[in-house]
Amino acid sequence: MGWDFETDPAYQAKLDWADEFVREEVEPLDLLWPGKAFWPPDETVRKVINPLKEEVRRQDLWATHLGPELGGKGHGQLQLSLLNEILGRSSWAPIIFGCQAPDTGNAEIIAHYGTEAQKERYLKPLLEGEVFSCYSMTEPQGGSDPTLFTTRAVKDGDEWVINGWKYFSSNARTAAFLIVMAVSDPDTSAYKGMSMFLVPTDTPGVKIVRNSGLAGESEEEGMHALIHYDDVRVPADALLGGEGQAFAVAQTRLGGGRIHHAMRTIGLAKMGLDAMCERALSREVSGGRLSDKQFVQGYIADSYAQLMQFRLYVLYTAWSIDKHNDYLKVRKDIAAIKVIMPDVLHDIAWRTIQVHGALGVSNEMPFTQMMTGASVMGLADGPTEVHKVTVAKQVLRDHEPSPGLWPTMHLPTRREAARAKYAAVLEHEVGNL
Ligand SMILES: Cc1cc2nc3c(=O)[nH]c(=O)nc-3n(C[C@H](O)[C@H](O)[C@H](O)COP(=O)(O)OP(=O)(O)OC[C@H]3O[C@@H](n4cnc5c(N)ncnc54)[C@H](O)[C@@H]3O)c2cc1C
Repeated sequence: MGWDFETDPAYQAKLDWADEFVREEVEPLDLLWPGKAFWPPDETVRKVINPLKEEVRRQDLWATHLGPELGGKGHGQLQLSLLNEILGRSSWAPIIFGCQAPDTGNAEIIAHYGTEAQKERYLKPLLEGEVFSCYSMTEPQGGSDPTLFTTRAVKDGDEWVINGWKYFSSNARTAAFLIVMAVSDPDTSAYKGMSMFLVPTDTPGVKIVRNSGLAGESEEEGMHALIHYDDVRVPADALLGGEGQAFAVAQTRLGGGRIHHAMRTIGLAKMGLDAMCERALSREVSGGRLSDKQFVQGYIADSYAQLMQFRLYVLYTAWSIDKHNDYLKVRKDIAAIKVIMPDVLHDIAWRTIQVHGALGVSNEMPFTQMMTGASVMGLADGPTEVHKVTVAKQVLRDHEPSPGLWPTMHLPTRREAARAKYAAVLEHEVGNL
Protein backbone atom coordinates (compact mmCIF):
# COMPACT_ATOMS: atom_id res chain seq x y z
CA MET A 1 0.00 0.00 0.00
CA GLY A 2 1.59 3.25 -1.13
CA TRP A 3 -0.70 5.93 0.39
CA ASP A 4 1.22 7.90 2.98
CA PHE A 5 0.56 11.44 4.16
CA GLU A 6 3.56 11.73 6.46
CA THR A 7 6.69 13.74 5.84
CA ASP A 8 10.02 12.00 6.28
CA PRO A 9 11.24 13.12 9.77
CA ALA A 10 14.63 14.31 8.46
CA TYR A 11 12.94 16.54 5.87
CA GLN A 12 10.33 17.67 8.41
CA ALA A 13 13.20 18.91 10.58
CA LYS A 14 14.42 20.96 7.58
CA LEU A 15 10.91 22.34 7.09
CA ASP A 16 10.69 23.30 10.76
CA TRP A 17 14.01 25.09 10.41
CA ALA A 18 12.80 26.86 7.22
CA ASP A 19 9.57 27.91 8.92
CA GLU A 20 11.36 29.66 11.76
CA PHE A 21 14.06 31.06 9.46
CA VAL A 22 11.50 32.63 7.10
CA ARG A 23 9.48 34.12 9.97
CA GLU A 24 12.47 35.49 11.86
CA GLU A 25 15.03 36.35 9.18
CA VAL A 26 13.28 36.71 5.83
CA GLU A 27 9.85 38.27 6.46
CA PRO A 28 11.53 41.43 7.81
CA LEU A 29 12.92 41.98 4.29
CA ASP A 30 9.35 42.30 2.97
CA LEU A 31 8.85 45.16 5.41
CA LEU A 32 12.20 46.85 4.81
CA TRP A 33 12.31 46.50 1.02
CA PRO A 34 8.82 45.76 -0.30
CA GLY A 35 8.70 45.22 -4.06
CA LYS A 36 12.48 45.14 -4.31
CA ALA A 37 13.05 41.38 -4.32
CA PHE A 38 13.78 41.36 -8.07
CA TRP A 39 16.09 44.35 -8.08
CA PRO A 40 19.85 43.86 -8.19
CA PRO A 41 20.81 44.25 -4.53
CA ASP A 42 22.77 47.33 -3.48
CA GLU A 43 25.56 47.04 -0.88
CA THR A 44 23.21 47.31 2.11
CA VAL A 45 20.79 44.70 0.80
CA ARG A 46 23.66 42.43 -0.19
CA LYS A 47 25.05 42.57 3.35
CA VAL A 48 21.76 41.23 4.65
CA ILE A 49 20.76 38.71 1.99
CA ASN A 50 24.09 37.05 1.17
CA PRO A 51 24.51 35.50 4.64
CA LEU A 52 20.87 34.38 4.53
CA LYS A 53 21.43 32.63 1.16
CA GLU A 54 24.56 31.04 2.58
CA GLU A 55 22.59 29.70 5.53
CA VAL A 56 20.03 28.18 3.14
CA ARG A 57 22.84 26.46 1.20
CA ARG A 58 24.30 25.12 4.45
CA GLN A 59 20.90 23.61 5.18
CA ASP A 60 20.90 21.99 1.70
CA LEU A 61 17.73 23.87 0.79
CA TRP A 62 19.04 26.07 -2.04
CA ALA A 63 17.17 25.39 -5.32
CA THR A 64 16.22 22.16 -3.63
CA HIS A 65 14.08 20.72 -6.45
CA LEU A 66 16.87 20.77 -9.03
CA GLY A 67 19.13 17.81 -9.65
CA PRO A 68 22.70 17.85 -8.28
CA GLU A 69 24.04 18.55 -11.80
CA LEU A 70 22.21 21.90 -11.59
CA GLY A 71 23.30 22.72 -8.07
CA GLY A 72 20.23 21.43 -6.24
CA LYS A 73 19.61 18.38 -4.09
CA GLY A 74 17.20 16.59 -6.42
CA HIS A 75 14.45 16.73 -3.83
CA GLY A 76 11.81 16.97 -6.55
CA GLN A 77 8.45 18.70 -6.70
CA LEU A 78 6.76 17.10 -3.68
CA GLN A 79 9.43 18.27 -1.28
CA LEU A 80 9.55 21.63 -3.04
CA SER A 81 5.81 21.88 -2.51
CA LEU A 82 6.16 21.46 1.26
CA LEU A 83 8.92 24.06 1.29
CA ASN A 84 7.07 26.49 -0.99
CA GLU A 85 4.11 26.43 1.41
CA ILE A 86 6.46 28.14 3.85
CA LEU A 87 8.08 30.46 1.30
CA GLY A 88 4.70 31.60 -0.09
CA ARG A 89 4.24 33.88 2.93
CA SER A 90 7.04 36.18 1.85
CA SER A 91 7.89 37.79 -1.50
CA TRP A 92 11.60 37.68 -0.62
CA ALA A 93 11.72 34.07 0.58
CA PRO A 94 11.83 32.37 -2.87
CA ILE A 95 14.81 34.59 -3.77
CA ILE A 96 16.62 33.63 -0.58
CA PHE A 97 15.95 29.95 -1.31
CA GLY A 98 16.78 30.11 -5.06
CA CYS A 99 13.37 29.03 -6.33
CA GLN A 100 11.58 32.21 -7.46
CA ALA A 101 9.26 32.59 -10.45
CA PRO A 102 9.80 33.21 -13.29
CA ASP A 103 13.44 32.17 -12.92
CA THR A 104 12.74 28.55 -11.91
CA GLY A 105 10.69 27.93 -15.04
CA ASN A 106 13.23 29.73 -17.22
CA ALA A 107 16.06 27.71 -15.66
CA GLU A 108 14.15 24.51 -16.33
CA ILE A 109 13.85 25.17 -20.05
CA ILE A 110 17.48 26.18 -20.46
CA ALA A 111 18.45 23.04 -18.56
CA HIS A 112 16.18 20.99 -20.81
CA TYR A 113 16.73 22.59 -24.24
CA GLY A 114 19.89 24.67 -23.88
CA THR A 115 23.26 23.91 -25.46
CA GLU A 116 26.30 23.59 -23.20
CA ALA A 117 27.36 27.14 -24.14
CA GLN A 118 23.89 28.51 -23.29
CA LYS A 119 23.88 26.71 -19.95
CA GLU A 120 27.28 28.15 -19.12
CA ARG A 121 26.31 31.69 -20.09
CA TYR A 122 22.71 31.90 -18.84
CA LEU A 123 21.82 28.97 -16.60
CA LYS A 124 24.86 29.01 -14.32
CA PRO A 125 24.52 32.61 -13.10
CA LEU A 126 20.74 32.15 -12.87
CA LEU A 127 21.07 29.12 -10.61
CA GLU A 128 23.74 30.86 -8.55
CA GLY A 129 21.19 33.61 -7.89
CA GLU A 130 23.49 36.20 -9.46
CA VAL A 131 21.06 37.39 -12.15
CA PHE A 132 17.35 37.51 -12.90
CA SER A 133 15.64 36.47 -16.12
CA CYS A 134 12.49 37.38 -18.03
CA TYR A 135 10.05 35.38 -20.13
CA SER A 136 8.81 37.58 -22.96
CA MET A 137 5.87 35.91 -24.69
CA THR A 138 2.58 37.85 -24.30
CA GLU A 139 1.92 40.59 -26.86
CA PRO A 140 -0.31 43.65 -26.53
CA GLN A 141 -2.87 42.28 -29.02
CA GLY A 142 -2.93 38.71 -27.73
CA GLY A 143 -2.01 36.84 -24.57
CA SER A 144 -4.08 33.71 -24.10
CA ASP A 145 -4.02 32.85 -27.78
CA PRO A 146 -0.39 32.56 -28.94
CA THR A 147 -1.52 32.06 -32.54
CA LEU A 148 -2.14 35.84 -32.57
CA PHE A 149 1.50 36.67 -31.88
CA THR A 150 3.20 38.69 -34.58
CA THR A 151 6.70 39.45 -33.24
CA ARG A 152 8.96 38.23 -36.05
CA ALA A 153 12.40 36.67 -36.12
CA VAL A 154 13.99 36.74 -39.57
CA LYS A 155 17.21 34.96 -40.44
CA ASP A 156 19.89 37.22 -41.86
CA GLY A 157 23.12 35.32 -42.60
CA ASP A 158 24.17 33.72 -39.35
CA GLU A 159 22.07 36.10 -37.27
CA TRP A 160 18.39 36.43 -36.36
CA VAL A 161 16.72 39.84 -36.43
CA ILE A 162 13.76 40.26 -34.05
CA ASN A 163 11.05 42.90 -34.50
CA GLY A 164 7.80 43.38 -32.62
CA TRP A 165 6.08 44.16 -29.35
CA LYS A 166 5.84 42.21 -26.11
CA TYR A 167 3.66 43.05 -23.12
CA PHE A 168 3.74 42.22 -19.41
CA SER A 169 7.25 40.82 -19.62
CA SER A 170 7.80 40.49 -15.87
CA ASN A 171 11.11 41.66 -14.43
CA ALA A 172 12.51 42.70 -17.83
CA ARG A 173 13.80 45.91 -16.29
CA THR A 174 16.06 44.03 -13.86
CA ALA A 175 16.69 40.85 -15.86
CA ALA A 176 20.06 40.03 -17.40
CA PHE A 177 18.38 38.25 -20.32
CA LEU A 178 15.02 37.70 -21.97
CA ILE A 179 13.54 34.53 -23.39
CA VAL A 180 11.63 35.77 -26.41
CA MET A 181 9.01 33.86 -28.39
CA ALA A 182 8.83 34.97 -32.03
CA VAL A 183 7.37 33.86 -35.35
CA SER A 184 10.27 32.40 -37.33
CA ASP A 185 8.21 30.85 -40.13
CA PRO A 186 4.92 32.64 -40.91
CA ASP A 187 4.11 30.15 -43.70
CA THR A 188 3.46 27.27 -41.36
CA SER A 189 1.05 26.85 -38.42
CA ALA A 190 1.80 28.87 -35.29
CA TYR A 191 2.51 25.59 -33.49
CA LYS A 192 5.46 24.87 -35.78
CA GLY A 193 6.37 28.36 -36.92
CA MET A 194 7.54 29.96 -33.67
CA SER A 195 10.93 29.81 -31.99
CA MET A 196 12.46 30.84 -28.65
CA PHE A 197 15.49 33.11 -28.41
CA LEU A 198 17.85 33.98 -25.60
CA VAL A 199 18.40 37.73 -25.78
CA PRO A 200 20.66 39.66 -23.38
CA THR A 201 18.64 42.64 -22.11
CA ASP A 202 21.36 45.10 -23.11
CA THR A 203 21.25 44.02 -26.78
CA PRO A 204 20.82 47.13 -28.98
CA GLY A 205 17.18 47.51 -30.01
CA VAL A 206 15.62 46.09 -26.81
CA LYS A 207 13.52 49.09 -25.82
CA ILE A 208 11.49 49.02 -22.63
CA VAL A 209 8.76 51.53 -23.36
CA ARG A 210 7.15 51.42 -19.92
CA ASN A 211 6.79 49.20 -16.87
CA SER A 212 3.23 48.48 -15.82
CA GLY A 213 2.61 48.03 -12.12
CA LEU A 214 -0.12 46.01 -10.46
CA ALA A 215 -3.06 47.73 -8.75
CA GLY A 216 -1.83 49.89 -5.91
CA GLU A 217 1.75 50.09 -7.18
CA SER A 218 3.18 53.37 -8.38
CA GLU A 219 4.46 53.77 -11.97
CA GLU A 220 8.05 53.70 -10.73
CA GLU A 221 7.45 50.34 -9.03
CA GLY A 222 6.03 48.60 -12.13
CA MET A 223 7.79 45.34 -13.04
CA HIS A 224 5.83 44.26 -16.14
CA ALA A 225 7.42 45.69 -19.25
CA LEU A 226 5.99 46.76 -22.56
CA ILE A 227 8.96 46.08 -24.83
CA HIS A 228 9.63 47.08 -28.40
CA TYR A 229 12.10 44.74 -30.08
CA ASP A 230 13.45 47.06 -32.71
CA ASP A 231 15.78 45.29 -35.16
CA VAL A 232 17.30 43.24 -32.35
CA ARG A 233 20.17 41.17 -33.77
CA VAL A 234 21.22 37.96 -32.07
CA PRO A 235 23.56 35.24 -33.33
CA ALA A 236 22.20 31.94 -34.68
CA ASP A 237 23.16 30.21 -31.45
CA ALA A 238 20.70 32.39 -29.53
CA LEU A 239 18.01 29.93 -30.59
CA LEU A 240 16.75 27.95 -27.57
CA GLY A 241 15.65 24.49 -28.66
CA GLY A 242 15.17 23.84 -32.36
CA GLU A 243 13.73 26.23 -34.91
CA GLY A 244 9.92 26.07 -34.67
CA GLN A 245 10.01 24.45 -31.22
CA ALA A 246 8.68 27.38 -29.19
CA PHE A 247 5.42 25.66 -28.22
CA ALA A 248 7.17 22.58 -26.84
CA VAL A 249 9.60 24.79 -24.91
CA ALA A 250 6.74 26.95 -23.58
CA GLN A 251 4.82 23.94 -22.30
CA THR A 252 7.87 22.71 -20.37
CA ARG A 253 8.25 26.11 -18.76
CA LEU A 254 4.66 26.87 -17.98
CA GLY A 255 3.89 23.47 -16.44
CA GLY A 256 6.46 23.99 -13.72
CA GLY A 257 5.66 27.67 -13.29
CA ARG A 258 1.98 27.00 -12.70
CA ILE A 259 2.38 24.40 -10.01
CA HIS A 260 5.07 26.43 -8.23
CA HIS A 261 2.61 29.35 -8.00
CA ALA A 262 0.05 26.95 -6.55
CA MET A 263 2.49 25.71 -3.90
CA ARG A 264 3.26 29.26 -2.77
CA THR A 265 -0.44 30.18 -2.87
CA ILE A 266 -1.08 27.55 -0.18
CA GLY A 267 1.31 29.46 2.09
CA LEU A 268 -0.29 32.81 1.34
CA ALA A 269 -3.83 31.52 1.86
CA LYS A 270 -2.75 29.82 5.10
CA MET A 271 -1.39 33.16 6.28
CA GLY A 272 -4.84 34.66 5.59
CA LEU A 273 -6.62 31.89 7.50
CA ASP A 274 -4.24 32.28 10.46
CA ALA A 275 -4.89 36.03 10.52
CA MET A 276 -8.65 35.42 10.30
CA CYS A 277 -8.54 33.05 13.28
CA GLU A 278 -6.39 35.40 15.34
CA ARG A 279 -8.78 38.29 14.71
CA ALA A 280 -11.84 36.16 15.41
CA LEU A 281 -10.41 35.17 18.77
CA SER A 282 -9.38 38.74 19.62
CA ARG A 283 -12.32 40.95 18.63
CA GLU A 284 -15.42 41.47 20.81
CA VAL A 285 -18.72 42.29 19.14
CA SER A 286 -22.41 42.13 20.24
CA GLY A 287 -21.80 40.37 23.52
CA GLY A 288 -19.20 37.88 22.46
CA ARG A 289 -16.08 37.22 20.49
CA LEU A 290 -16.19 37.07 16.70
CA SER A 291 -15.12 33.45 16.97
CA ASP A 292 -18.42 32.68 18.75
CA LYS A 293 -20.53 33.97 15.84
CA GLN A 294 -21.72 31.32 13.46
CA PHE A 295 -21.16 33.40 10.31
CA VAL A 296 -17.52 33.81 11.29
CA GLN A 297 -17.24 30.14 12.22
CA GLY A 298 -18.59 29.45 8.72
CA TYR A 299 -15.84 31.61 7.20
CA ILE A 300 -13.22 29.71 9.15
CA ALA A 301 -14.62 26.25 8.38
CA ASP A 302 -15.11 27.01 4.66
CA SER A 303 -11.59 28.46 4.42
CA TYR A 304 -10.01 25.50 6.18
CA ALA A 305 -11.86 22.96 4.03
CA GLN A 306 -11.09 24.84 0.80
CA LEU A 307 -7.44 25.16 1.70
CA MET A 308 -7.09 21.50 2.67
CA GLN A 309 -8.67 20.31 -0.60
CA PHE A 310 -6.40 22.58 -2.59
CA ARG A 311 -3.30 21.60 -0.61
CA LEU A 312 -3.87 17.89 -0.98
CA TYR A 313 -4.49 18.27 -4.71
CA VAL A 314 -1.30 20.29 -5.15
CA LEU A 315 0.73 17.74 -3.16
CA TYR A 316 -0.76 14.87 -5.16
CA THR A 317 0.07 16.63 -8.43
CA ALA A 318 3.62 17.40 -7.29
CA TRP A 319 3.99 13.72 -6.41
CA SER A 320 2.68 12.77 -9.87
CA ILE A 321 5.22 15.05 -11.56
CA ASP A 322 8.03 13.36 -9.63
CA LYS A 323 6.63 9.95 -10.54
CA HIS A 324 6.30 10.60 -14.29
CA ASN A 325 9.08 13.13 -14.60
CA ASP A 326 7.04 14.67 -17.39
CA TYR A 327 4.78 17.73 -17.06
CA LEU A 328 2.71 16.72 -20.07
CA LYS A 329 1.53 13.52 -18.37
CA VAL A 330 0.24 15.62 -15.47
CA ARG A 331 -1.21 18.37 -17.64
CA LYS A 332 -4.83 17.79 -16.62
CA ASP A 333 -4.11 18.13 -12.91
CA ILE A 334 -1.81 21.14 -13.32
CA ALA A 335 -4.53 22.89 -15.34
CA ALA A 336 -7.20 21.95 -12.75
CA ILE A 337 -5.05 23.35 -9.96
CA LYS A 338 -4.53 26.52 -11.97
CA VAL A 339 -8.33 26.81 -12.26
CA ILE A 340 -9.09 26.50 -8.54
CA MET A 341 -6.09 28.49 -7.25
CA PRO A 342 -7.55 32.01 -7.79
CA ASP A 343 -10.83 31.05 -6.12
CA VAL A 344 -9.12 29.59 -3.05
CA LEU A 345 -6.96 32.67 -2.60
CA HIS A 346 -9.79 35.09 -3.39
CA ASP A 347 -12.30 33.47 -1.04
CA ILE A 348 -9.91 33.23 1.88
CA ALA A 349 -8.56 36.77 1.33
CA TRP A 350 -12.11 38.16 1.12
CA ARG A 351 -13.17 36.45 4.37
CA THR A 352 -9.97 37.58 6.09
CA ILE A 353 -10.66 41.18 5.09
CA GLN A 354 -14.29 40.93 6.17
CA VAL A 355 -13.43 39.59 9.63
CA HIS A 356 -10.91 42.45 10.10
CA GLY A 357 -13.49 45.11 9.25
CA ALA A 358 -12.13 48.50 8.13
CA LEU A 359 -8.65 47.51 9.20
CA GLY A 360 -8.81 44.67 6.68
CA VAL A 361 -9.14 46.92 3.63
CA SER A 362 -6.64 49.45 4.94
CA ASN A 363 -3.04 49.71 3.79
CA GLU A 364 -2.02 48.71 7.31
CA MET A 365 -2.79 45.07 6.57
CA PRO A 366 -1.53 43.00 3.59
CA PHE A 367 -4.90 41.53 2.60
CA THR A 368 -5.93 43.64 -0.40
CA GLN A 369 -2.67 42.58 -2.05
CA MET A 370 -3.86 39.01 -1.60
CA MET A 371 -7.04 39.90 -3.48
CA THR A 372 -4.97 41.34 -6.34
CA GLY A 373 -2.82 38.22 -6.11
CA ALA A 374 -5.92 36.09 -6.63
CA SER A 375 -6.76 37.97 -9.84
CA VAL A 376 -3.15 37.63 -10.98
CA MET A 377 -3.34 33.87 -10.41
CA GLY A 378 -6.38 33.75 -12.69
CA LEU A 379 -4.42 35.39 -15.53
CA ALA A 380 -0.66 34.88 -15.33
CA ASP A 381 0.46 31.73 -17.18
CA GLY A 382 -2.90 31.65 -18.96
CA PRO A 383 -6.44 32.61 -17.88
CA THR A 384 -8.75 30.32 -15.95
CA GLU A 385 -11.11 29.84 -18.89
CA VAL A 386 -8.38 28.45 -21.13
CA HIS A 387 -7.23 26.04 -18.42
CA LYS A 388 -10.82 24.88 -17.90
CA VAL A 389 -10.91 23.99 -21.59
CA THR A 390 -7.70 21.99 -21.16
CA VAL A 391 -9.13 20.13 -18.15
CA ALA A 392 -12.36 19.35 -19.97
CA LYS A 393 -10.55 18.12 -23.10
CA GLN A 394 -8.26 15.90 -21.03
CA VAL A 395 -11.14 14.50 -18.99
CA LEU A 396 -13.15 13.82 -22.15
CA ARG A 397 -10.25 11.82 -23.57
CA ASP A 398 -11.00 9.10 -21.02
CA HIS A 399 -14.64 8.85 -22.08
CA GLU A 400 -16.62 7.43 -25.02
CA PRO A 401 -19.97 8.37 -26.56
CA SER A 402 -22.82 6.05 -25.54
CA PRO A 403 -23.03 3.06 -27.88
CA GLY A 404 -26.75 3.47 -28.61
CA LEU A 405 -29.64 5.89 -28.33
CA TRP A 406 -29.87 5.74 -24.53
CA PRO A 407 -27.08 6.73 -22.12
CA THR A 408 -25.26 3.80 -20.51
CA MET A 409 -26.72 4.88 -17.13
CA HIS A 410 -30.32 4.70 -18.50
CA LEU A 411 -32.17 2.76 -15.82
CA PRO A 412 -34.84 0.98 -17.96
CA THR A 413 -32.15 -0.25 -20.38
CA ARG A 414 -29.93 -1.45 -17.52
CA ARG A 415 -32.87 -3.08 -15.77
CA GLU A 416 -33.69 -4.96 -18.95
CA ALA A 417 -30.05 -6.06 -19.24
CA ALA A 418 -30.06 -7.16 -15.59
CA ARG A 419 -33.21 -9.19 -16.18
CA ALA A 420 -31.65 -10.80 -19.26
CA LYS A 421 -28.48 -11.62 -17.31
CA TYR A 422 -30.35 -13.44 -14.55
CA ALA A 423 -33.19 -14.67 -16.79
CA ALA A 424 -32.66 -18.33 -15.94
CA VAL A 425 -32.90 -17.71 -12.18
CA LEU A 426 -35.81 -15.31 -12.52
CA GLU A 427 -37.76 -17.75 -14.70
CA HIS A 428 -37.10 -20.50 -12.18
CA GLU A 429 -38.44 -18.25 -9.37
CA VAL A 430 -41.58 -17.48 -11.41
CA GLY A 431 -42.00 -21.21 -12.10
CA ASN A 432 -41.90 -21.91 -8.34
CA LEU A 433 -44.71 -19.51 -7.52
C1 LIG B 1 1.18 39.59 -12.90
C2 LIG B 1 1.31 39.05 -14.29
C3 LIG B 1 2.57 38.66 -14.74
C4 LIG B 1 2.74 38.22 -16.06
N1 LIG B 1 3.99 37.89 -16.48
C5 LIG B 1 4.19 37.56 -17.76
C6 LIG B 1 5.51 37.30 -18.24
O1 LIG B 1 6.48 37.36 -17.49
N2 LIG B 1 5.68 37.02 -19.56
C7 LIG B 1 4.63 36.96 -20.41
O2 LIG B 1 4.86 36.68 -21.59
N3 LIG B 1 3.35 37.19 -19.99
C8 LIG B 1 3.11 37.50 -18.70
N4 LIG B 1 1.84 37.77 -18.25
C9 LIG B 1 0.75 37.80 -19.20
C10 LIG B 1 -0.20 36.62 -19.09
O3 LIG B 1 0.40 35.45 -19.57
C11 LIG B 1 -1.48 37.01 -19.87
O4 LIG B 1 -2.10 38.04 -19.12
C12 LIG B 1 -2.43 35.86 -20.08
O5 LIG B 1 -1.90 34.91 -20.96
C13 LIG B 1 -3.76 36.37 -20.65
O6 LIG B 1 -3.52 37.15 -21.79
P1 LIG B 1 -4.19 38.63 -21.90
O7 LIG B 1 -3.88 39.36 -20.68
O8 LIG B 1 -3.77 39.21 -23.19
O9 LIG B 1 -5.74 38.36 -21.90
P2 LIG B 1 -6.63 37.99 -23.17
O10 LIG B 1 -5.99 36.98 -24.01
O11 LIG B 1 -7.07 39.26 -23.81
O12 LIG B 1 -7.87 37.34 -22.45
C14 LIG B 1 -8.75 38.16 -21.67
C15 LIG B 1 -9.83 37.30 -21.07
O13 LIG B 1 -10.59 36.69 -22.11
C16 LIG B 1 -11.08 35.44 -21.68
N5 LIG B 1 -10.62 34.41 -22.60
C17 LIG B 1 -9.44 34.36 -23.28
N6 LIG B 1 -9.36 33.25 -24.01
C18 LIG B 1 -10.52 32.57 -23.83
C19 LIG B 1 -11.04 31.33 -24.31
N7 LIG B 1 -10.33 30.57 -25.16
N8 LIG B 1 -12.25 30.95 -23.89
C20 LIG B 1 -12.96 31.71 -23.02
N9 LIG B 1 -12.51 32.88 -22.53
C21 LIG B 1 -11.31 33.31 -22.92
C22 LIG B 1 -10.54 35.23 -20.27
O14 LIG B 1 -11.49 35.68 -19.34
C23 LIG B 1 -9.33 36.12 -20.25
O15 LIG B 1 -8.96 36.51 -18.93
C24 LIG B 1 1.62 38.15 -16.93
C25 LIG B 1 0.35 38.52 -16.46
C26 LIG B 1 0.19 38.96 -15.16
C27 LIG B 1 -1.20 39.37 -14.70
